[in-house]
Amino acid sequence: MDGVTVEQRAERYRPECVPGGQDRVAELAGWVTDGDVVVLSGAGLSTESGIPDYRGPSGAARRTTPMTYQTFTRDPVARRRYWARSHLGWRTISDARPNAGHRAVARLQELARLGGIITQNVDGLHQAGGARDVVELHGNLARITCLDCGSRSSRSAHEARLSAANPDFAAVAAAINPDGDVELDEAALDGFTVVDCTGCGGMLKPDVVYFGESVPPDRVARSFELVCGARTLLVLGSSLTVMSGRRFVLRAAREGVRVAIVNQGVTRGEPYASLTVDAPLGTVLPDLVARVESSTRQNARIIL
Ligand SMILES: [Zn+2]
Repeated sequence: MDGVTVEQRAERYRPECVPGGQDRVAELAGWVTDGDVVVLSGAGLSTESGIPDYRGPSGAARRTTPMTYQTFTRDPVARRRYWARSHLGWRTISDARPNAGHRAVARLQELARLGGIITQNVDGLHQAGGARDVVELHGNLARITCLDCGSRSSRSAHEARLSAANPDFAAVAAAINPDGDVELDEAALDGFTVVDCTGCGGMLKPDVVYFGESVPPDRVARSFELVCGARTLLVLGSSLTVMSGRRFVLRAAREGVRVAIVNQGVTRGEPYASLTVDAPLGTVLPDLVARVESSTRQNARIIL
């Protein structure tokens, strides 16, 4: 962290303060007005909702390694600690509200400019901001899945069961990670009780893709289908560090689908992008929507 507030950073990166920034947003607005845009969003879209991006400029480096599928399923102590930490972290995730960037994406969908929305985020904020038909590549923390019988249930019901099973658990989280996991003193985890599937007694897990786990093939296939059918792939708030997201940019570039990236900081997609805007999404996206609305009105006038 460089001690700069979100507002100060937004001011510094206002497109009018960046050489050529206004022209780039104007060009992007032209591409979006053309339609058939597929959005690929990452953690940077949710930072302004208070969910940190540990790879982006606003996120401190994560102190603990993320939970892997193998550890979660094989190590009962690690699993108990995960649920204790996640029980605390869930409050931050469930309290998060969509920001101007999420609402702008929903508005572009309403204006029929989008061919699809693919997200790497597990916070559900696209839908909370009004978007529909979102492909959640890495799942959603608001759902719980049973690894034995496959049934799905709501996170809120699960959290109520955890609270009931742990009436004296009052640990305070030191810091939260983007996947809802928190940093916590290990002594605070002693005695935390995990709850199992109400249907079969099996092992429960948040319905998200862990490190070491593959994205379900149907979601990958659907995403490739959307990208290949697009005129523009618009990456929002992703540094494209992991292949799980970068592969869509590589495919788009190979298929001749133009790539635009709006992200704060450098991304690994830059060699494939024809247009990049380095700025906070909560500033650029409402500006983009206003331009698209304006040119859509002008086009309607020409047709009339
Ligand atoms: Zn079950």
